[in-house]
Formats: sequence, C-alpha cells, structure tokens
Amino acid sequence: MSELISSLTEEVAALRAAGGLRELVVLQSPQDAEVEIGGRRVINLSSNNYLGLTSHPRLIEAAVAATRTWGAGSGAVRTIAGTLAIHEELEARLAAFKGTEAALTLQSGYTANLAVLGACLDQPDAVVSDQLNHASIIDGIRLTRAHRYRFGHRDLDDLEAQLAAARREGCRRVLVVTDGVFSMDGDIAPLPGIVERAEAARAAVMVDDAHASGVLGRQGRGSVDHFGLQGRVEIQVGTLSKAMGVLGGYVAAPRAVRDTLIRAGRPFLFSTSHPPAVVAACLAAIAVMEEEPERQERLWANTRHFKAGLERLGFDCGRSETPITPVIVGEGARAMALSDALRERGVFAQGIGFPTVARDGGRVRTIVTAAHTPAQLDRALEAFEDAGRALGLLPSATAARS
Ligand SMILES: *Cc1c(COP(=O)(O)O)cnc(C)c1O
Repeated sequence: MSELISSLTEEVAALRAAGGLRELVVLQSPQDAEVEIGGRRVINLSSNNYLGLTSHPRLIEAAVAATRTWGAGSGAVRTIAGTLAIHEELEARLAAFKGTEAALTLQSGYTANLAVLGACLDQPDAVVSDQLNHASIIDGIRLTRAHRYRFGHRDLDDLEAQLAAARREGCRRVLVVTDGVFSMDGDIAPLPGIVERAEAARAAVMVDDAHASGVLGRQGRGSVDHFGLQGRVEIQVGTLSKAMGVLGGYVAAPRAVRDTLIRAGRPFLFSTSHPPAVVAACLAAIAVMEEEPERQERLWANTRHFKAGLERLGFDCGRSETPITPVIVGEGARAMALSDALRERGVFAQGIGFPTVARDGGRVRTIVTAAHTPAQLDRALEAFEDAGRALGLLPSATAARS
C-alpha cells in the first residue's frame, strides 16, 4: 500500500474511533416528507426540498419525456457540442422568472459561484463578502486573484468600512457578495442596506439565493424580488437543487455577465452540461412554482407552526426568519446526541457542529417543507420535547409542572 493510502487509512480510523467521522445516512425511499432510513419510516426535517417538487408528477413526466426525445446525456461541454435547444429554453425561462436580461445554467450552485467569482473578478478588483457566506462562495473567492475583504455577518457598518478600505487600497472594480438566506441560521441578508452601501461606493452586488429561491418573493422568485430590488442586485446566483427539486445552478444577470461566463467561467468551459432530463424537470419546476403558489403558502404556514412549537417548548432557534430553523444546543456533541435521540423517536434532523458552525453553536438544523402535514409536524414537535427532556436540554416534565 502506498504511503498516501496507508496514512489516510490511519487518519480515518483515528477519527472514527474518536467519533469524529459521520457516516453517510442512506435513504431507502424517495426524498419526501417521510423517508425510510435503516428500515424505519421517519419524518424528514433534513432536506432542501422546500416545495416538495422532487416527487411532483409534472417534473417526473418532463424528465422521462425529455429523455425519450433528447437522450440520456448531452454529450459535450456547452462550448463544444453540449448546448441543446432545451438548455437555452431553460435559461430564457430563468431570466424571465428572475427579471434579468440573461441567465446561464451551470452543473450546480457550487460551480455557479466558482464560475462567477473566478470569471468576473481579477487583480486589482475586490470582493467584499459576508463572514457567514456559503462554502461555495468562499471557494470561489479563493479562485479569484481579486483582493478579499470580509464583513461581519449582516453588519452594514462593517460593510461600509470594508468598502472604504477597498477603495483606499486602490482596488478597481468591487463586488459585494452575500447569501440571500443563510443556510445554518435561516436569517435573511439585509439586502436594501447592502445595496445602499454598495451603490454609494459604486460597487456591484451579488446574492446567492440557494435557500431563498422558492421560499422568498412572489412565486418564489427570491430575495431580490422579496425586497423589490430588481436591477439593483445585478448578479443573482441560484440553485436548481433545493426548492426547484432537481439539480444545477444558474446565474441570472445582465448579458455581459453571461457572455463573460461563457468566455471564462471555468466550470462552464470544462465540465459537461446537464442531461436533458434535468433540464426538462427544471422547466417543469418553474411552471409549477408559477401555477401552484399554494405550495409556497403551505411552506410558510408550516414554518410558522413548527417554529412557534419549538419556541413554545423553550428551544433556542437563534435568529431564524425562514423555513430553516436551527435548534441551538451548544457543543457539537450535544447536537449529535439530540439528532440521535430524535432519530430514535422517528425524526430525521441532522446535527451540525464545528467547523460548519461556531464551537458553541452546535445545533440540530430543521427544514420544514410544503409537503409536511400539520400532523407530521406535531409528531416531530413531540419527539423534540421528549428528546429534549431526556437529554436535559429542557426542564424535565415534573420540574416544568412544579
Ligand atoms: C446549497 C448551496 C449552494 C450549492 O448549491 P448546489 O446546487 O447544491 O451545488 C450554494 N450556495 C448556497 C448558499 C447553498 O446553500
């Protein structure tokens, strides 16, 4: 065995022994409000399937029909022979839905961020990024040669200070980038204030709406629509993998951004385009979002119901304002223990610890969807109550009564 493989074997063995290696959770049923794990049906509070679209008949039918018409794969990267007519149809639909001049799809939200940040910025540009932005933004920033500035989470005064520093230090073009909805806390970026500060500094704004698409804005158009900032947030990145229920990422922006990505976006240039089934299912997802607004309404009704229930029990849900509701318990090990206790009680909600969140910010992250019934959410709340008391995270039932 090579030195590399033997040392990796030792590393993972040590991690596993210390309980620091989470095994993959395997679902034995389709993604839905309830799933089967380890031979047992559990209520699923871990997926990003906000609108329940992964199993929507229209998406499934569209995927099957497109496969019959267009084949199973696309055959090449977009810039060679991998641009099918439906790829361009989806991009036109996305641009219209997001209210932008153009759009471009990529293999994932992750690669969309890499492509934009890598292709649009160079020395001596600057990128100014919220400290809690998603890993794909952080990785994209690592790939640019632009100067890097970080502002405190949702801290507009610090943003202003970082913008001033970028100007003082002679940076040329400046881009402010933020998540629309933050994935660990479920809080919303203060976009109106960000846009105001950016405009004053003649900086552009980019929002990553992975967790906002389908959730915020009219028919799920996202955070820019939610705040009425069309045209003032010039670059909107989104994913087709969460509320849209399929796979992929996109950039909705002025045509110059699309053209720049086609010329210089490395994930776009050097990785094959989506298979027809994915593209057609995404087209169907947009149609469903426009035609079935009751899904978004149910998502929010469920969110209010579940969040109120957790808070009534006495859990700390942080600063959540969206369907992402963390239950913050402190150390990572406690979060994992709560997650395990919930699983024993028929609820699947992942524990998240350091380094994904701060050392004292260990949590079980919950995401409700439009597909959950109120009865399922009530059962999940009972499991939270029972597990919370069993682990001493909530006062015991007798103590609470006395
Ligand atoms: C999930 C997520 C991504 C990645 O999207 P994928 O389509 O899963 O690659 C990017 N940004 C944010 C903020 C996300 O939450």
